[in-house]
Amino acid sequence: MTDRYAVIGNPIAHSLSPRLHAEFARQCGQDIRYEAILAPADGFADAVQAFRRAGGKGVNVTVPFKVAALELADRHSERARMARAVNTLKFDDDGIFGDNTDGVGLVTDIRDRLGVDIDGRRVLVLGAGGAARGVVLPLLEAGASSLIIANRTPERAVELIAPYGVRAGLHAGGFGMLGKHEFDIVINATSASLSDQGLPLPSGVFAAGSLAYDMVYGKGTTRFLADASAQGAALCCDGLGMLVAQAAESFRLWRGVMPDIAPVMAMMQHA
Ligand code: NAP
Repeated sequence: MTDRYAVIGNPIAHSLSPRLHAEFARQCGQDIRYEAILAPADGFADAVQAFRRAGGKGVNVTVPFKVAALELADRHSERARMARAVNTLKFDDDGIFGDNTDGVGLVTDIRDRLGVDIDGRRVLVLGAGGAARGVVLPLLEAGASSLIIANRTPERAVELIAPYGVRAGLHAGGFGMLGKHEFDIVINATSASLSDQGLPLPSGVFAAGSLAYDMVYGKGTTRFLADASAQGAALCCDGLGMLVAQAAESFRLWRGVMPDIAPVMAMMQHA
């Protein structure tokens, strides 16, 4: 019997998830149907429950419902709990399980596709919204020697790392705190690139040979990536690989089989 999955968000028409999961299913010989559901701003829980009653097995969750998904789940992975956001729900006999695959998607893309080691590296994350929250624990677990979260509104960055307590190498604040520090990996988790805005970073942030990673995808060379390249970043990359890898991790959670990311990434880049 065909198992049903969906992505729920608002807006949702732009979502690439149906295409990604159709490709994973074809590759892995899995009989699934994956659709996109537009939920009204105040109707997320109703939309999820209706889909579940209709036989749905799980959903991906996107903007603006990742916190609502955390509240809806009965059980959570540690990475979802620490992120305080859920992007994947799995329905089973024990209720609703909530996970967050965004961070592992980012780490997989940086380490496996780009070939950049995170272990022992100095990492800077710009932004303190949902995307930044999802990547802190996976970056720490990947062995970052230091992890700085810098945000336009400094208090949000400080609040973001509060659940981790005092931890060597983990700091948060505004862009001004970056001073003369340099980093091996600089990740733009702000939404500034969506409106083609740059970020007020001090010069010297990008260490020689560093990676500049913009989570935004489909925008070509963003101002952030252009500035990074001009300031000496050796490798500049957008967030398409993170998108594909987080989707693959959701697929693995639901179906128990990990798709091969590389051919799907190649297909998406070509498209
Ligand atoms: P969000 O919760 O709305 O947070 C937005 C963040 O961007 C906040 O930290 C905000 O700072 C900052 N910001 C917005 N405009 C800015 C500007 N002009 N200058 C400096 N900072 C600015 O959004 P989100 O869910 O975290 O998503 C962030 C980005 O990541 C989006 O572009 C999204 O498309 C992308 N994303 C990609 C993937 C992927 O798989 N590749 C996954 C998730 C998200 P304040 O706190 O000061 O407002």
